[in-house]
Amino acid sequence: MSELLTVEEHLRSILGAVRQLEAETIPVPGARGRTLSSPLRAAVDIPVFDNSAMDGFAVRFVDVADAAADAPAPLRVVADLPAGTDLDPPLGPGEAARIMTGSPVPAAADAVVPFEDTVGGLEDSLGVISVVRAPRAAGAHIRRRGEDAREGDVLLPAGTLVGPLQAAAAAAAGVSHLAVARTPRVAIVSTGSELAAAGSPLLRGQIPESNSELLAGLAEEAGAGVVLRRSVPDESDALRAVLAHADDVGADVIVFSGGVSAGAYEVVKGTLGPGGEMGFVKVAMQPGKPQGFGHVPGGALLFGLPGNPVSAAVSFEVFVRPALLAMQGRTDIHRPVIRLGAAVSWRTPPGRRQYLPAVIDRTDPARWTVRPATGGGSGSHLAGGLGRAEAYAIVPAGVDAVAAGDLVDVMLVS
Ligand code: AMP
Ligand code: MG
Repeated sequence: MSELLTVEEHLRSILGAVRQLEAETIPVPGARGRTLSSPLRAAVDIPVFDNSAMDGFAVRFVDVADAAADAPAPLRVVADLPAGTDLDPPLGPGEAARIMTGSPVPAAADAVVPFEDTVGGLEDSLGVISVVRAPRAAGAHIRRRGEDAREGDVLLPAGTLVGPLQAAAAAAAGVSHLAVARTPRVAIVSTGSELAAAGSPLLRGQIPESNSELLAGLAEEAGAGVVLRRSVPDESDALRAVLAHADDVGADVIVFSGGVSAGAYEVVKGTLGPGGEMGFVKVAMQPGKPQGFGHVPGGALLFGLPGNPVSAAVSFEVFVRPALLAMQGRTDIHRPVIRLGAAVSWRTPPGRRQYLPAVIDRTDPARWTVRPATGGGSGSHLAGGLGRAEAYAIVPAGVDAVAAGDLVDVMLVS
């Protein structure tokens, strides 16, 4: 038996072949799901100016420092400052301005008294008011200019995934455009003469083609754009033709499924293998032992994943997703892994790291547990059960069996 590579060894050679995609500058509203190529720097201070944290009155702290229920401090309201105002009214001794949350605090004020600390509150708030509780100190209820970030500060480093929170931070920092990695262009090619389009009537020997749905979706979730999606029979000419097509549409990555193992009609291995564009190896994992990887002269990366749906899914997680994220310059290219107790016992393959589709029982929030998603065991053909999975339990090669209660690494994928 030929020697098995570890997952890490194979991943290392893949990542060694990855080239980072060029950056492009795009408007913030379209940047979600993209990866920053340059740090996000604030274009304005956050907050932009000193502003009120409360609806109430901008005051001179000295005027109200001793205010109390039994010693109210009267103030005359001389201005009204709604949000968006550009007014900066002067305040003399005993004077205040009514102010709303977010309005600029007048230069003459150094504290805000909320409505609830006056006798009348919003009622009579434009006449003479009575403050019955002193602000705790000068500066009370004032949000200071730049206390969150200063113009030029780095808010997010390069390599950050832009999600809604990050896009909003950019907008708040006055930034309209972001430098992000170009979207990787991915071609998904299913191989197998038995494959029929999902939903079409099945002749004897045919099965619904499902890996393209799986792999296209996973690629898109990893920030890629799917530029080609094809299913081809186990024929070299068909494979060569689709490879040329993928090149024409500028694919950066071509993901094949099927046709990489030890059978008689392994079209990917037979066409692109020995002497060709791809190398084929065996990795000490289950599922996903046979793996193909290489690149075309033009540079597109070629992945040859085993065709069993669970094998394809696991192989994508372990090898393709990290490569797609590395191409985009993502700092963190790995899924989160947590450690949970096993809810049941299960068998594991000798000498190979197990990636078992799993569900997490969250009934007890302080003690989540993990169990296999597929009732029929760890079979890599259990494509239906895969739909229940939200994670993969990862069991080291040296462990023979998992017993209920054992702690297991769990890779979260949803
Ligand atoms: P292979 O890796 O080509 O030997 O395929 C392994 C198993 O996965 C076979 O039972 C195939 O029928 C099945 N399979 C391969 N490709 C797909 C696909 N695209 N969709 C669903 N099943 C597939
Ligand atoms: Mg096949």
